[in-house]
Amino acid sequence: MAHPCLSCGACCAFFRIAFHWSETDPFLGGTVPADLTEQLDPHRVVMRGTQSKQPRCVALKGTIGEAAYCGIHPIKPSVCREVEPSWEFGRHSLQCDKGRIAHGLRPLTPEDWLDPSGDNAPPLPQSA
Ligand code: SF4
Ligand code: SF4
Repeated sequence: MAHPCLSCGACCAFFRIAFHWSETDPFLGGTVPADLTEQLDPHRVVMRGTQSKQPRCVALKGTIGEAAYCGIHPIKPSVCREVEPSWEFGRHSLQCDKGRIAHGLRPLTPEDWLDPSGDNAPPLPQSA
């Protein structure tokens, strides 16, 4: 079963990904490569590319809505690990839905976890 995130990537190109600088410091147990981040304020860094007008995390690989994945998945920031795809765990995720809608993708439904091809899901309503 293909995970829906692997044909999406939208949330990695929508939000500013900010987190405490210590997550980039290996001496403090940090795992995120510091050279993929930039300073936001005295306490926080951001993933490069996510402060742009058209954000896209520097670690995102592939094409949004087709085939995409996180290039640092095992060591990604805590904020990224906290984002749940809608309905993977039986509940809606506002972050997931916002990211997908911003990229013209319909929000996930519970049916997507039964049929990850999405063939069972209704299309995104068209605006007038
Ligand atoms: S927007 Fe949702 S489905 Fe898409 S990559 Fe993020 S969590 Fe996964
Ligand atoms: S670090 Fe990975 S999961 Fe987090 S925004 Fe970047 S590509 Fe997405």
